[in-house]
Amino acid sequence: MKAPVQAPPPADAPAQDALAEVAAQLFVPLGVDGVYARSALYEDIVGRLSAYIDRQREPGAEVLRFPPVMSRAQLERSGYLKSFPNLLGCVCALHGTEAAISAAVQRFEDGGDWTTSLTSADLVLSPAACYPVYPLAAGRGPVPREGLLFDVAADCFRHEPSRALDRLQSFRMREYVRIGAPQDIRAFREQWMQRAQRLAEELALPSRLDVASDPFFGRVGQVMAVSQLQMSLKFELLIPYQPAARPTACMSFNYHMEHFGDVWGLRDAAGQVCHTGCVAFGMDRLAVALFCNHGLRPQGWPAAVRRALSL
Ligand code: ATP
Ligand code: ZN
Ligand code: MG
Repeated sequence: MKAPVQAPPPADAPAQDALAEVAAQLFVPLGVDGVYARSALYEDIVGRLSAYIDRQREPGAEVLRFPPVMSRAQLERSGYLKSFPNLLGCVCALHGTEAAISAAVQRFEDGGDWTTSLTSADLVLSPAACYPVYPLAAGRGPVPREGLLFDVAADCFRHEPSRALDRLQSFRMREYVRIGAPQDIRAFREQWMQRAQRLAEELALPSRLDVASDPFFGRVGQVMAVSQLQMSLKFELLIPYQPAARPTACMSFNYHMEHFGDVWGLRDAAGQVCHTGCVAFGMDRLAVALFCNHGLRPQGWPAAVRRALSL
C-alpha cells in the first residue's frame, strides 16, 4: 500500500478483469505480486517504444544506462527516506565470517530463518532512473551556462505490494533529465508536456495532462503533497487502459526546483545553485496501454501507430 492518505479509489473491477485478460498474453507470473516475466510479444513493443523515445532525443543529451542498483549513501543523501521510506528496497547480504554465514545456512537447512543474519549492503534498488545523475553531474565541476541534458534509464523497484497489473514492484523507467537555470528547466518541462501529448496522439492513445503529487509517506507527507500540488511541481500524462477506466499515469513531468542542486552542490560558474527537472516515461505502463487500447496483434494496430513504432 502507498501512504494511507494517498489510497487510490477502489479499483474498477471490470476494467481490472479486462486488463488481467490482456496481461495473461503479455506476462508470466513469477510467484510474487507485481513481478512478472515478459513475453516476446511484449518485449518487442517495449523495444520499439524505446527506439521511438530515442528519436525524440535532443542533440547534446548524454546517454547513460544505469544498473538496477545504486549507491545507498547517494539515495539517503537525496532525501528519499524522508519522502518514500515505505517504497524503498535495500540490498542485504550475509556479511559475517565464514562461521557466521555457515551458521545462517545451517539454520535454513534446519527449517529456521536464515534472513536474521542479513545486514544491509551499500546498495539500494533504484526507485527511479534519475537519482544517480545529480551526484554524477556535480562531480564534474561547474555546470555550463546552457545547462546539461541526460537521457537515462533503469530497471526500478518499489515496494508496492499491489495486485494491480499497472502497479508493478519491478518496472522500467526512461527519463530525460535537465540541469540548469530555473527558466531553462521550466521551459524544458513545458516543452515536454506539449510534446508528450503529441506523442500520445501519434500512438493513438487517449490522454490528458493533470497536475499531480507524489505519494509522500505519512502525515507529514500529506502536507508535502499539498504544497507540491499548489506549486504545480508535478504533472502526469494520464491514459485510460479501457474506455471507461480510471486513467493510469504513464509519464510524469517533474520540477525539483533547487532540491538536488542544494543537496549535491550543483552550481554554475557564477556560483548560482542550479535547478533540475525530469520527464519520466513509465515504459511498462506505456506498453500495456498500447496493448489494451489497440489489441494483442500489433500488425492490426492503426497505420500511424505502426509507422511510429516501425512495425
Ligand atoms: P503513481 O502515480 O502510479 O503512484 P508516481 O507518481 O510515483 O506513480 P513517478 O515517480 O513519477 O511515478 O514515476 C515515473 C513513471 O514511472 C510514472 O509516471 C509511471 O508511468 C511509472 N511508474 C511509477 N510507479 C510504477 C509502478 N509501480 N509500476 C509501473 N510503472 C510505474
Ligand atoms: Zn526523475
Ligand atoms: Mg503519481
